Amino acid sequence: MMKLLTPDLHVDSVLDLDLEKVKANNIKGLIIDIDNTLVSWELKYASEKTKEWLLNLEKTGFKVCLVSNNTEDRVVTFNEELKLPAIHRAAKPRIGAFKKAMEIMGTEVTNTAIIGDQIFTDVLGGNRMNIFTILVVPIAGKEFWWTTFVRKVERHVLRVVLKDHKGEKTNANRR
Ligand SMILES: [Mg+2]
Repeated sequence: MMKLLTPDLHVDSVLDLDLEKVKANNIKGLIIDIDNTLVSWELKYASEKTKEWLLNLEKTGFKVCLVSNNTEDRVVTFNEELKLPAIHRAAKPRIGAFKKAMEIMGTEVTNTAIIGDQIFTDVLGGNRMNIFTILVVPIAGKEFWWTTFVRKVERHVLRVVLKDHKGEKTNANRR
């Protein structure tokens, strides 16, 4: 169970992501969540810095597809300037939208990564398919009470998972 909830990488922000490291894992396609991964839940558009980061991904050879559980309105507005492939109402952690995204990008499970801020949608969905998962710290913002509740559970799970992880590493080192 914990394995399903553990990301392969954990970074503070997409902007901190080491793209060379991602490439070194043979990743060619990036499925990216929108809300609280690229922009605060309450803002319509990404910051200039984030927009630049997103558009630069394609220049550096990655395929990109935005995959959000939010509405068509939200996703289309966010994507107005970016014009990236995008899927709304993705119903993550169900895997249908991830399959569709890989079809759009022409990538496979083995060379795709999912970037998102939620363990129970982005990471769980990705791990269910054995896709490389990258968890980011959620961008702060006012949220639905439900998300706030899920966050609290997530923080707890993350603590447990990270503790587990450390344990594993220590054991490995001993061998
Ligand atoms: Mg999100």
